[in-house]
Amino acid sequence: MTPKPINYFHDHLIECYGQRVQKLCLDGGFTCPNRDGSKSFGGCLFCDSDGSGAGKILAARPVGEQVARQKALCQRRYGAKLFIAYFQAFTNTYAPVERLRFLYDQALASDDVIGLSVGTRADCLDEQVCDLLASYMSRSRRVWVEIGVQTVNQATLDRMNRAEGVEDFRRAAQLVKQRNLELVVHVIVGLPGDGIDDFLATVDFVNTLNADGIKIHNLYVDSRAPLAALWRKGDVPILSFGDYVSAVAQGVARLSSRCLVHRLSGQAPKPYHLAPEWALDKNRVIRAVEAELLARGAFHGSLYSPPASAGG
Ligand code: SF4
Repeated sequence: MTPKPINYFHDHLIECYGQRVQKLCLDGGFTCPNRDGSKSFGGCLFCDSDGSGAGKILAARPVGEQVARQKALCQRRYGAKLFIAYFQAFTNTYAPVERLRFLYDQALASDDVIGLSVGTRADCLDEQVCDLLASYMSRSRRVWVEIGVQTVNQATLDRMNRAEGVEDFRRAAQLVKQRNLELVVHVIVGLPGDGIDDFLATVDFVNTLNADGIKIHNLYVDSRAPLAALWRKGDVPILSFGDYVSAVAQGVARLSSRCLVHRLSGQAPKPYHLAPEWALDKNRVIRAVEAELLARGAFHGSLYSPPASAGG
């Protein structure tokens, strides 16, 4: 069999556990400091009113009940027997540590939940929160911390009302790595004002962090996000399919081969997805990026150069 040109996270899980491992999308009822006024109001311009979550979760239900329901669904649909508890919507470390412990403990109550994954902001990660997350590793669980840097272009972040900086991100990433938590970085290709060079510089930055994983998203427009009004006015250029595929192939070639790829594209839930149309077919994007790499004689990490500070 021809080896895949990209090191995917889902293949890594199958190698580690000998079977499919399914994410359970959970909602701990969090909000976000970029929405409640602690940092800003309104949120990032690309973020929808569900906080970029799955949008289907019964947030009012106790986490233990959400786990049971999601497990039953995944067992029926995919025959899955192992799971990762995934807190996705909004900022999943934005609460007092005791509240976080209460929620995470419920999520990890049974042995078939092999790990915890939390999506959060850099400015909501401190020593105490990272210590709590690391404590689950001593209980034989893996812990992934997903943080959005999105781009290293600070002017773009400011225009998107991100209300945090690249340096916040670097500090948080160091805290995560110091505790051997697994760092997963979210990036967006095609933010207004960004060029392909900004994306490639973001990949180089991710390499300096010794990140364990990356989620690459195209900029998409969700009808519930503030970006939708700007897009309707024609103020938000959207990358073509070909330009996106070319950019991602270049980025993956520069990315360290030990930084596993969790995603190669993004989309809003179908009823809310305004653009780009091509993002609705994620398998087509994956096939095209792989083909582009092969056409360039490249593969994941083939153009990687170790950052001076990374020590190889
Ligand atoms: S993208 Fe994240 S940080 Fe930005 S508003 Fe949404 S939940 Fe908050």
